[in-house]
Amino acid sequence: MDKKLRFNSLTIHGGQEPDKAFGAVMPPIYQTSTYAQSTPGRHQGYEYSRTHNPTRTALECSIASLEKAKYGLAFASGMAAMDTVLKLFQPGDEIISTDDLYGGSYRLLTKVFEKYGLKIHFVNMEKVENIKPFLNIKTRLIWIETPTNPMMKVVDIHAIAALGKTHNALVAVDNTFASPYLQQPLDLGADIVMHSATKYLAGHSDTIIGLLAVNDDVLHEQLAFIQNSGGGVPGPMDCFLALRGIKTLHLRMQRHCENGAAVATHLQDHSKIEKVYWPGFVYHPNHEVAKKQMKAFGGMLSFVPQGGGIANAKKILEKFQIFTLAESLGGVESLAGHPASMTHASIPKETREKSGVVDGLIRLSIGIEDVQDLIEDLDQAIA
Ligand SMILES: *Cc1c(COP(=O)(O)O)cnc(C)c1O
Repeated sequence: MDKKLRFNSLTIHGGQEPDKAFGAVMPPIYQTSTYAQSTPGRHQGYEYSRTHNPTRTALECSIASLEKAKYGLAFASGMAAMDTVLKLFQPGDEIISTDDLYGGSYRLLTKVFEKYGLKIHFVNMEKVENIKPFLNIKTRLIWIETPTNPMMKVVDIHAIAALGKTHNALVAVDNTFASPYLQQPLDLGADIVMHSATKYLAGHSDTIIGLLAVNDDVLHEQLAFIQNSGGGVPGPMDCFLALRGIKTLHLRMQRHCENGAAVATHLQDHSKIEKVYWPGFVYHPNHEVAKKQMKAFGGMLSFVPQGGGIANAKKILEKFQIFTLAESLGGVESLAGHPASMTHASIPKETREKSGVVDGLIRLSIGIEDVQDLIEDLDQAIA
């Protein structure tokens, strides 16, 4: 059935059927750790909730349908999902990653996995050729984030996936910023899609949860083995919240994109703004790639106010009345953040500034409020 439905129906029905026990329309929250067996080894497909849980299965099937994948896997957080991917590798293996990426991902790669012998190269992937000097027989994974956080750089997934194939390296895409509504990396040739479903997928800033989606049977088996062995799984309540959020993903994303475009254009024309980063501008370095691989340009943008500097950024952030100063993104409410001291504080200043994350940079997650209220709030804060 799923295959025939369009995206805006899959968010509601993808991988889900009315519950077998009582016909519940929403997948019930199976708050149980274990399942009765009639004789040792005979059960109804569920033994222990670290391994499987019916609410989690519904979410795993939902993300698989949205990412046009054969398999979905759910985790306790986006970082637990990435951690599971990185455990596929062995000492001596090499990974090439985008240089401008979520601070927590950078921390996991460098502070946790480097000490187990993985070698990580951080590369600006705006130009596909940039990764070529780093590809060798030890390259096992290319990790892409696009649009990147917080500089909104866009990476050509299709071109890099092709390069990965010719070098026998897996290509994984952190699809958190775009969500499957805007971009479907497996369709573009990637092997693994990762989500911090904490953000747009769950969409209401009320849970921490992560997802993976893959097509390959063996890869799925390896990831499911690590998922069950390490146990970084979400509870059924969190799976339920993500499932409920996903049902309105297409509606929310449409508004996030409309509001994002209106705010980006307004800031671009504002006399007290130095720079705005948003992939929808025709002068964005990879605007054509964004147009090719994304359905629209999303609700995330960053800007530097005139003069830059940490004091100036702080002044604006403190004056916001509708935008909430907080970490995270992708919820219905608009958030503002200061990457240099918040999400990207774990990246050394020099490395951070090289990729554009200067002290004055402010990142916005544009919510689905009335856009006029958002623009008025920005104007009074910047004034
Ligand atoms: C938030 C985020 C993560 C981490 O996800 P958690 O659910 O917080 O563990 C990874 N990548 C990106 C792009 C993010 O925004």
